[in-house]
Amino acid sequence: MSTNERITHWIGGKPWAGVTPPEGRRGEVYDPVTGEVAGFVDFASAAEVDEAVAAASRAYPEWRDASLARRTQVLFAFRELVNARQAELARLISAEHGKVQADAAGEVARGLEVVEFACGIPHLLKGGFSENVSTRVDSYSIRQPLGVCVGITPFNFPAMVPMWMFPVAIACGNTFVLKPSEKDPSASILLAELWAEAGLPDGVFNVVHGDKVTVDRLLEHPAVRAVSFVGSTPIARYVYENGTGHGKRVQALGGAKNHMVVLPDADLDLAADAAVSAGFGSAGERCMAISAVVAVDPIGDALVEKIKERTAELKVGPGFDDSSQMGPLVTGPHRDKVASYLDAGVREGARLVVDGRGHPIGGPAEGFWLGPSVFDHVTPQMSVYRDEIFGPVLSVLRAPSYEAAVECVNASPYGNGVAVFTNDGGAARRFQNEIEIGMVGINVPIPVPMAYYSFGGWKSSLFGDTHVHGTEGVHFYTRGKVVTARWLDPSHGGVNLGFPTNR
Ligand code: NAD
Repeated sequence: MSTNERITHWIGGKPWAGVTPPEGRRGEVYDPVTGEVAGFVDFASAAEVDEAVAAASRAYPEWRDASLARRTQVLFAFRELVNARQAELARLISAEHGKVQADAAGEVARGLEVVEFACGIPHLLKGGFSENVSTRVDSYSIRQPLGVCVGITPFNFPAMVPMWMFPVAIACGNTFVLKPSEKDPSASILLAELWAEAGLPDGVFNVVHGDKVTVDRLLEHPAVRAVSFVGSTPIARYVYENGTGHGKRVQALGGAKNHMVVLPDADLDLAADAAVSAGFGSAGERCMAISAVVAVDPIGDALVEKIKERTAELKVGPGFDDSSQMGPLVTGPHRDKVASYLDAGVREGARLVVDGRGHPIGGPAEGFWLGPSVFDHVTPQMSVYRDEIFGPVLSVLRAPSYEAAVECVNASPYGNGVAVFTNDGGAARRFQNEIEIGMVGINVPIPVPMAYYSFGGWKSSLFGDTHVHGTEGVHFYTRGKVVTARWLDPSHGGVNLGFPTNR
């Protein structure tokens, strides 16, 4: 991306042709490696949101009536195009987000799995049929699309998280308006171009960039039927309350504080590898990152030693350098906020056993760098534990027993992901049963469900009733109808004011 590049909306099958908005209605997009402004992204006003929703509303009747065969043809074509352009998408993501390219490629691959799932939509939309529910009367169920659906997504997965939503929504016959993160908006525009190339009719998929003004208009717009949100817990709660207050169906996935419980019988080398990979991958900017390791006595000291050794060896540098394992953080203010927790943790009595501020960095000093840090002897009262830091800071807590570890995890207000490391099948089975978290890993640190299962947390990690993608996604983007039919039955018995019974 060249300096001063303008990134604008995608409305009605093409880039938005409006005038450059005045200063203040656009945002800066950074190159996190150099810290320089790489471009500007337009922020949609309420009127521009209305244009996008109008385009989606106009496109709806034709797309709703498109045969399942036609919809799947477009989905298959889109799948092929995304597959062919994976490397380009990964480069775009890495350039604006900062994550290393292998990680960006992984995110595109996980997003593609949802497209592949959505290619099976004819099977997923099959209803039920009951013959002779009454004499010569049949009954059957149908799931129909909702209309214009909206996705509002976070910076940390600029391709995958939108792809949790729109392939399923569009496959179900809806039209879609995406409001991606203003921090890394370019991947969404490439995806829009690929939809157009795949033959999706104009207006079925639209992108508006922006901020709170943009989001607020989407939440109140009368033509918007459903909102899928992924982001931090305070905004998720806000979107859920405002969206449902305006009569919309809303699923709002929030923040996380994911624990990894290490039982005394676990393979400590495996557990240390997993804690470092899941704690520092994508610089800890993952909703499924491990941020709290709960070491059950007596293995705490040995585990921390192994985590320290591995952390010291991590290579931090630009995402485009194949030898980098961790890139910079997304923006300067975010890096500063994450770094402020290192002082806060020490002040509150945790032991900073690895200080990322001293870690060797393989990039320009002006980039948004912060090396990986490890705190030991963290307690649930400390801000490093309570807050979602969303950066490369791993906290280790000590627990005297299995029961104390489970109690600690279950007391967390977040409920996105959790992992247990053990060689004891009985303990693992008990853990999966007792833990109050939406996604559980057993010797798997980042248990992101496959596309044909649904993704979502519990408690303050999800507002709403349904998780994303999988059959719950299909359910979210459709509503049910049941038809009761009698055909050409001369024996209806004439006028009868009684309530219909099934005999
Ligand atoms: P964020 O909440 O700041 O932003 C998410 C979206 O909301 C963006 O599109 C943003 O423009 C918009 N937004 C921001 N402030 C707003 C406001 N005041 N009013 C209306 N809209 C607003 O989140 P982020 O920093 O982009 O992403 C990181 C967060 O997302 C972390 O908390 C992470 O845990 C969470 N996340 C959760 C999941 C999950 O599956 N639960 C997945 C990915 C990320």
